[in-house]
Amino acid sequence: MVKVGVLALQGDYAAHAQALVAAGAEPVEARRLGDLEGLDALVIPGGESTVMGLLLQRFGLLEPLKDKLRAGMPVFGTCAGLILLAKEIEGRDQPRLGILDVAVRRNAYGTQIDSFRTRLGTSVPGVPEIEGIFIRAPRIIRAGPGVETLAFHGGFPVLVRQGLVFGASFHPELVPGAPLHRWFLETIHSER
Ligand code: GLN
Repeated sequence: MVKVGVLALQGDYAAHAQALVAAGAEPVEARRLGDLEGLDALVIPGGESTVMGLLLQRFGLLEPLKDKLRAGMPVFGTCAGLILLAKEIEGRDQPRLGILDVAVRRNAYGTQIDSFRTRLGTSVPGVPEIEGIFIRAPRIIRAGPGVETLAFHGGFPVLVRQGLVFGASFHPELVPGAPLHRWFLETIHSER
């Protein structure tokens, strides 16, 4: 079975672990350096990107994780996870992994009370539509030429992929049946 680490320092990692089970993978909660060994892929959940970034630094995970991602470990970052993957965080110099060629604006869709659900059309094979759940979501304000956009909302990319680096500004782990986790697993299986 495919072993997928879920960065479990903070945020909604438990929902991702459940989604991975639904998609047929074995989730492994990753908190320490040793937990990153022997993984086929990694998921970085939503939560608070500043806190997660500081914890990555404090636990000595930031640089080793960067190395693993640069070496080609597949990764899916959602919401705060997307922020941590982004090369550029508008107006901020917070700790990040910086592997995905996008710029993001944090909390661009409003505060917690402005959270919303909406139907998103996608170009993910077999997933024509998905419910997008946006919670203090980041907006992708720039995507580099190597970044493929698979869903838009209001003209901005909300689901992107650059090789085996995947990002969503919304919360696909909260959708029954975990179609985007399936897509992530199928893609890394077929392209590795
Ligand atoms: N606003 C959060 C941040 O900037 C992300 C919100 C989320 O992950 N649901 O880190």
